Amino acid sequence: MAAASPLSYSSVRAYLECPLRWKYLYVDRLPEAPRSYFSFGRTIHSVLEEAVRPLIIPSARRTPSGTSQRTLEDFHAGRASSSIAEAKPVGETAAVLEMYRRAWVSDGYTSPEEESRYKRLGEEILTGYWETLRADPPTPVAIEEHLQASWQGIPVHGYIDRVDRTPGGGLDVVDYKTSRELSRTEAKESDQLALYQVLVQENFSDPVEKLTLYHLRSLTPLRTEPRTPSVLEELHGRVATVRDGIRSAEFPPTPGRQCTRCDFRGICPEFKEVPGTDKERLALLVDRFRELRERERTLGGELEATATELHQAAEELGLHRIPGTHDVAVRRREESWRFDRRRVGEVLEEHGLTDRVDRDDPEAVRKFAKDPEVPASAREAITSAGSRRTRWYWELER
Ligand code: SF4
Repeated sequence: MAAASPLSYSSVRAYLECPLRWKYLYVDRLPEAPRSYFSFGRTIHSVLEEAVRPLIIPSARRTPSGTSQRTLEDFHAGRASSSIAEAKPVGETAAVLEMYRRAWVSDGYTSPEEESRYKRLGEEILTGYWETLRADPPTPVAIEEHLQASWQGIPVHGYIDRVDRTPGGGLDVVDYKTSRELSRTEAKESDQLALYQVLVQENFSDPVEKLTLYHLRSLTPLRTEPRTPSVLEELHGRVATVRDGIRSAEFPPTPGRQCTRCDFRGICPEFKEVPGTDKERLALLVDRFRELRERERTLGGELEATATELHQAAEELGLHRIPGTHDVAVRRREESWRFDRRRVGEVLEEHGLTDRVDRDDPEAVRKFAKDPEVPASAREAITSAGSRRTRWYWELER
């Protein structure tokens, strides 16, 4: 079942946004409508995968036992696993544009004009990006690679756009973004990059030195530092929340901004229309409920005011029983105690009594403070750490 399946970044994000939408996507496997920005992103990613793959220089991987495994190239060249290899020559831009024409996905565009606009944008992006690679060839060690790991017992996975060798011999985890805008803060706070850091750390021998969101429209690499252990721990907590929610089949609808782009509004209980045959009956029921709520509120206020008036009369006249026409109103007193937990703990410790009473249970502490077997000094100290509250209320007797 889905609970045992590895979690990806998008799956974790979908669950945290709305567990019911997650269920529609990952359990019921309902399809989403095609969208132009998805098709466009997919096209650009697949072209970059095909075009950059020949530039790969394999890197040492971790074996299941955690040790490093040298690559064939390391042995041929007699290199250590983290040595920096020469970048391979980058091919012609025209070849990349040809791949682009072949890879184009037409789904989800709302008009031929929109599709042409995107096509031109893709050509501009790829031409510009390829020129930057030709000027400064990268040394990728992995392209569009599917990595898996058990992250402190939770299976996780992801497709990593690219992992580059850094000049220092470490690794730079790169994710391409085709979105309109992308800020440095988004790169710094990206959970996606943090999860990819974990996946790369678990699968490669060399350390992760950089995490990069590459904004293709502006040809800007937003490089950030690897996440600290405490940031990763926080993310692990969120991933564990998702894992637990899925395990216990908790899929409540959680409306929010995400609903505007959710394809499941027609079946989601938050937005589903009442069937025509039940509309009138249910509308009457809601109106009746509203009316009763109003009355409840009004009556609650009146009840309170009447009890206060009776209380004032009882105080003035020194009474506890006031007869009406049918019943007698009887005034009752309820007492409760509150204790300063810290002080009670200190007293119990001073007297070696910590195991004798639960200091979080005020009623038990009150009884303990009256127990003649408890030393008088302890009883006194506990009593002085408490405060008594008295509440008066009325009951009706026949
Ligand atoms: S419409 Fe909103 S609440 Fe309903 S499933 Fe979609 S995201 Fe969740």
